[in-house]
Amino acid sequence: MDTTKFLTQLKKQTPNEDEFHQAVTEVLESIEEVYNQNPKFEAHKIIERIVMPDRIIMFRIPWMRDNGDIEVNQGYRIEFNSAIGPYKGGLRFHPEVSLGTFKFLGFEQVFKNALTTLPMGGGKGGSNFDPKGKSDNEVMRFCQSFMTELYRHIGPETDVPAGDIGVGGREIGFLYGQYKRIVNRFEGVLTGKGLEWGGSWIRKQATGYGTVYITQHWLKEHGTDFKGKTVAISGSGNVAIYAAEKVMELGGKVITMSDSTGCIVDEEGIDLKVIKLIKEVERGRIKEYLESRYNAKYSDERNDVWKVKCDIALPCATQNELDIEAAKALVKNGVLVVAEGANMPVTADAVHYLLGQKIGMIPGKAANAGGVAVSGLEMTQNSMKFKWSPKEVDEKLATIMENIHEACVKYGKRADGYVDYVKGANVAGFLKVANAMIDHGLI
Ligand code: NDP
Repeated sequence: MDTTKFLTQLKKQTPNEDEFHQAVTEVLESIEEVYNQNPKFEAHKIIERIVMPDRIIMFRIPWMRDNGDIEVNQGYRIEFNSAIGPYKGGLRFHPEVSLGTFKFLGFEQVFKNALTTLPMGGGKGGSNFDPKGKSDNEVMRFCQSFMTELYRHIGPETDVPAGDIGVGGREIGFLYGQYKRIVNRFEGVLTGKGLEWGGSWIRKQATGYGTVYITQHWLKEHGTDFKGKTVAISGSGNVAIYAAEKVMELGGKVITMSDSTGCIVDEEGIDLKVIKLIKEVERGRIKEYLESRYNAKYSDERNDVWKVKCDIALPCATQNELDIEAAKALVKNGVLVVAEGANMPVTADAVHYLLGQKIGMIPGKAANAGGVAVSGLEMTQNSMKFKWSPKEVDEKLATIMENIHEACVKYGKRADGYVDYVKGANVAGFLKVANAMIDHGLI
């Protein structure tokens, strides 16, 4: 494979999709060696096929504001790859998304889902709708309009969406209600559902907990644990909150969190009850934390989270939020490991820098796979019409994260003993999907 030539061609064919190119570049760089060692991959044109989604669905979403004004948003669902199971991946509602965002997220999802060892293909979707500042009724009308088109493309055995940025329990409820109303069936078509109507225990916590579980394995490999460690976390949404919760349970101290408008630093340790109240109940701004914790500091530069001295960094907000300058600041301050709770939060040059410095660098495909893993377990429970206890689900999640860690070590260990988790995750995920594609013939 001539990676440079291939990427030049891809960029020409898919202009203005920088995040997608970034995600593809990382995977191709990681798998080049194993790809070239196995001529069957080239013979079956696996790279050309794996970077192209099975299909892209784009649609109009008209909806009405409370005051009667009409709004129109763009909807997307990328059904990327179904070699190992039904398309599976979240929905993102955020004003800055584009086709390239969803292609990058869908592509990542294919390999991440393979790593979980569960039978799930990869997909992703959402809209440029911004839930911020909208009433509950407006969000409901938007979700109903979104599902009125999406329902015909999805199904429990076809494509099973879930939440992502801007899509939490409230949105999944509205989406599920509309699907059920249209098809007249109560079935496991979405994950992240409410506990009373088909949801799984631990789904809400799963991504954040999983990020911490895999980091715990990294620390164990290096003869240590979370006790007494200081941790910097970005974001204050679903992933960030439950990563913080698990860090604290394991004896670590979270000293900083952020949102899109700024960050807080609380050297005494973040009070998570206050964060949950602001973010989960009041849907407020992180600055409000200072009204309850007078000694904390606020900066309206959200990426200041990386300037704080910490042992462990967990970027849990959004893509490309930890750049080379931030990586250098972290290394200067003695960081041991960076684990991506979010999808691709560390820029490509920052990833290379961290790997060059032999800092632990656990990519999102591995580190945030806990969310989709428990979504897979939710699908299993729905099929069985049965529900496991919180303890059972948490144990299964912990086992899956341990297996992902093992796969990263197996495929990422270098001759000098350093484990390149980025390579390990990409190779493990790629092999599984590529071999399944070959088994299915030329489709
Ligand atoms: P939420 O919407 O719950 O929270 C997102 C957090 O990131 C908020 O604090 C938000 O701030 C902040 N944020 C969002 N966009 C930006 C931006 N452009 N710049 C800076 N900050 C931003 O989302 P999740 O916690 O669910 O998702 C976070 C990340 O984790 C995403 O990358 C997502 O793809 C990934 N992920 C999520 C999974 C899940 O199960 N939820 C599973 C696997 C990965 P504000 O409140 O101000 O918008």
